[in-house]
Amino acid sequence: MSEIEIPESHPRYESLLTRHRIEEGVEKGITSQQGLIAQGRGEAFDYLLGEETIPSADDAERVAAAQLLAAEHAVLSVNGNVAALVPGEIVDLAEATGADIEVNLFNRTAERMDRIADHLRDHGATAVKGLEADGRIPGLDHERAKVDADGIGDADVVLVPLEDGDRAEALAEMGKTEIVIDLNPLSRSAQSAAVPIIDNIIRAVPNMTEHARDLRDHSAAELEAIIDGFDAEEALAAAEQAIRDGDLDK
Ligand code: ATP
Repeated sequence: MSEIEIPESHPRYESLLTRHRIEEGVEKGITSQQGLIAQGRGEAFDYLLGEETIPSADDAERVAAAQLLAAEHAVLSVNGNVAALVPGEIVDLAEATGADIEVNLFNRTAERMDRIADHLRDHGATAVKGLEADGRIPGLDHERAKVDADGIGDADVVLVPLEDGDRAEALAEMGKTEIVIDLNPLSRSAQSAAVPIIDNIIRAVPNMTEHARDLRDHSAAELEAIIDGFDAEEALAAAEQAIRDGDLDK
């Protein structure tokens, strides 16, 4: 048994654990009500993917780890769903890659920002950005555009999991290398990413950390070769195919 009263061998264990964490996130004031809807949408895609990391997603996770390691300044953006689902795992990924963590909310309130920052600190984060909000993403209305000038504002590589399409597109237009985790290969966020990862964030983030640990001693040239060998269109097409071929009897 673990944090929920269901044995880990249960066939829907991961899905039930995910729902439990999101519900708890809403109760704690970390996750918005909208976050529940986003989760439901993600689950449907995950079901069709067989609730597993498909080979093209594993490749993308390795490339994303290489991007984070090769970056001048990498930032991991955290919203209410990300904080509820993978708080400790995000801290591990930041440690393995040297990236900063920044809280960045679509529905920003000071209270929710503070709760999420506290929640991340409870899971081992030493520095959490996003509370200054002294930078802007051009092309978005005031509230949605807020970032830290020395965080996402300054980053060359940004991980934006479960992000809304407008903001993902606006960040990509700023010239930042964008890594997106999203179970929907047709979402605008996934389509605008340099590295789209079509996988459940619960599996994707720990796998990226594992790849980052493997790649840690690679030279800049070796990381560059891994990054250059990636084709985003191909990764999206492979995920869409896997979903279209989805075997509902699995
Ligand atoms: P877009 O504007 O990019 O088309 P959207 O506005 O429809 O996207 P939302 O409804 O905000 O997007 O949902 C966020 C996205 O996060 C959805 O595409 C959903 O598939 C994805 N998602 C939800 N839960 C998870 C999860 N656990 N792991 C990965 N992706 C997820």
